[in-house]
Amino acid sequence: MAKVKQKLLFRTENVSGGRTEGESGSFEQGGSAKRPGKVNRVTERLQARRKSLNDSLEGDVRAFLVNEAELHTYDDLTKVNPVTPTTVLKCLQARYSARVFYTHAGCTLVAMNPFQPIPHLYSLDVMREYHTASQPQDFKPHIFIVAEEAYRNVQGQVEPVNQSLVVSGESGAGKTWTSRCLMKYYATVAASSQKCQHTVERIERRVLDSNPIMEAFGNACTLRNNNSSRFGKYIQLQLNSSQLLVGASVQTYLLEKTRVAFQAPNERNFHIFYQMMKGATEEQRQEWEMPCDQKFTWLPNAEKSLEEDCFQETVEAMVNLGIDAHKRAQIFRILAGLLQLGNVNFSPAPESEPCGLDQQSKGFLGKTAALLRVPADELRECVSIRTLRAGKQSALLKPCSQSECVVRRDCLAKVIYARLFDWLVGFINSSMCADDSKWCNFIGLLDVYGFECFLLNNLEQLCINYANEKLQQHFVAHYLKAQQEEYVSEGLQWSFVRYQDNQRCLDLIEGNPTSIFSLLNEECRLNRASDAKQFRERLQKELSDNGSMSWDKFSKQPHFIVAHYAGKVSYQIEGMMEKNKDPVPPELLSLLQKSEDPLLQSLFADTETEGKPHGHSKVVTVVSKFKNSLENLMKILHSTTPHYTRCIKPNPDCKPLTFQKEEVITQLEACGIVETIHISAAGFPIRVPYDNFIQRYRLISNTRLLAQGAENEAQIALGPAVQDILNAVLRTKSSAPNNNNNVMVHCGKTKVFLTHAMLELLEEQRYRVL
Ligand code: ADP
Ligand code: MG
Repeated sequence: MAKVKQKLLFRTENVSGGRTEGESGSFEQGGSAKRPGKVNRVTERLQARRKSLNDSLEGDVRAFLVNEAELHTYDDLTKVNPVTPTTVLKCLQARYSARVFYTHAGCTLVAMNPFQPIPHLYSLDVMREYHTASQPQDFKPHIFIVAEEAYRNVQGQVEPVNQSLVVSGESGAGKTWTSRCLMKYYATVAASSQKCQHTVERIERRVLDSNPIMEAFGNACTLRNNNSSRFGKYIQLQLNSSQLLVGASVQTYLLEKTRVAFQAPNERNFHIFYQMMKGATEEQRQEWEMPCDQKFTWLPNAEKSLEEDCFQETVEAMVNLGIDAHKRAQIFRILAGLLQLGNVNFSPAPESEPCGLDQQSKGFLGKTAALLRVPADELRECVSIRTLRAGKQSALLKPCSQSECVVRRDCLAKVIYARLFDWLVGFINSSMCADDSKWCNFIGLLDVYGFECFLLNNLEQLCINYANEKLQQHFVAHYLKAQQEEYVSEGLQWSFVRYQDNQRCLDLIEGNPTSIFSLLNEECRLNRASDAKQFRERLQKELSDNGSMSWDKFSKQPHFIVAHYAGKVSYQIEGMMEKNKDPVPPELLSLLQKSEDPLLQSLFADTETEGKPHGHSKVVTVVSKFKNSLENLMKILHSTTPHYTRCIKPNPDCKPLTFQKEEVITQLEACGIVETIHISAAGFPIRVPYDNFIQRYRLISNTRLLAQGAENEAQIALGPAVQDILNAVLRTKSSAPNNNNNVMVHCGKTKVFLTHAMLELLEEQRYRVL
């Protein structure tokens, strides 16, 4: 799609009687101060008449029933009048207090995390209600509306259309919960009939069982969320021609593998390690070298008890997915080996000698080797001595410094864990995926990390934020362009509010020929010692005319700042190039290939380890890999009908039913909701076909009636009937902005486009003459 141009959309000034969108003060307050009784009477009368209103207008009429006491009744944020971040926030707060957790925002669903189980909200009965309703969208906002809409869309009116449900939000906001909910929904409503229940039930079970496994291996307790997913996930639910769930496939993104060897204070390693520690049988403890009182460096905060620490559940899910006892034993043994490895410490040694190991560390190293089924002396050599290749034959052995040994030890753990995780995902796929011939459509669920901005940000955050930029662009392209297109196809004149195009930021990060990614990759190809200062100078030289890049003059550390759509983030350069290379010493790879553990051996079987000197080896960098997988994902998303759910975390401490305004508003901005709201509501959100319009409002003016006989749409558009009505209304309204009906109403080719304010005027007039 062509670039979305900047600062286009609807101009909002004057939409609600001359206010601009940024102004504070709400319509209802301003209005009722001037004419207190009147608005209320009109409101009451309108309320009384709502039932009789034409279906297509009913929802919109609610727009002018605004009243603070009723704010919680607003099912759609774009209908709050006026739509400003403040009113929207108030509305969400009111709803949260009233224990209403879902709200529409135009085409997006906002899901507020209650941080406590809400009885019956997701029960089977509720699922059935939404599933069997003739118009589920008339029900209270719920994730099941989104689910059901996607499910019905798959069938398509003309031809089937694949669907994507994009769930976003910051850590702890409820993305994974929502994805699980959606999966349960489809596993229930798309379940087969009695006849072939056996096989299909198995597939539904497997699809659901993939969750506890992936969460055990890919989730961890962090400061933000006790069950934080440390990877992104896109799962496709495969449906056959009868709309039944027959399989699924899953794709993961950017597992945070550093967590295996490093956990920030008060955070934990991946759940699976704690599950093993807590759930092992005596026999397993012996085999895994895991006595109850053993302390593991890589198992901090083990005393913390979480409901996620349920080993049995993980094992059962593994059994259901077909991971047999033999394979499970191999998996857990490897993991146990990693824990031992974490306890190995190196003592400094003179330059020409390898680092020493104290007695304890020797013991741990021995146990690691035994569990990983590799020779202990070779393991020790690999982590403490580097082999330098000068030419084809000759090799030079160079002892590593203490810190280099630590890096190699950690690297070993990370590469094993990452490959094991990928293997599991592969296994899960082979167990869930239906034959191509058995399915024809899919519903994709995307659960990815939200925008991140920490005190220190590095390559991980750059990748995550880049993914969010891509998704935001997709959202913008899909949603705004659809809006634009409708306006254009209706021949409307164009005067639009500003919205922020993020193309420039994406160009900065991933563009060709020069961008942060391309420079990082070049650095990696050159294979020279990475120098953060030098790299910063290059960035400055090559990219400073991109306005999305800046620098903090006072910062001592080499860094760069990127202006993301959700805010500015400062990235530290130190370590970034190394992270991008993500090098694994070839000695380690060769060692693992020699493992007598068939699983471990197979994880590294097709890895190239030697031969070519470093400089010429084909290194696939982290950013290239990520960019590729993201581009594939975007292609899929572009080929589907998207549905967006934005999860909001109402307080940083995960406290039940606690709403903190500042937290919420920051997230509304970060996930683009504020922008969505402006766009949805700032233009002409009410679109009424000419026929309906004239039918409903003809009594306002003594107009000659002519629309019915008109021959073509353009004639109707120019026809005086609509104009007569509009003029009649605007004449009576002294507050109408300069009597300039272009501001509050547009006549398209087939429809009248109205602002909420204009609709209010029309309804008031109509009621007056009734
Ligand atoms: P994210 O994936 O966005 O990081 P999660 O989905 O893991 O966040 O949600 C964090 C926690 O919030 C969950 O473990 C759960 O306790 C709670 N939670 C989220 N959504 C809901 C909900 N709809 N109802 C009740 N609790 C929820
Ligand atoms: Mg999650």
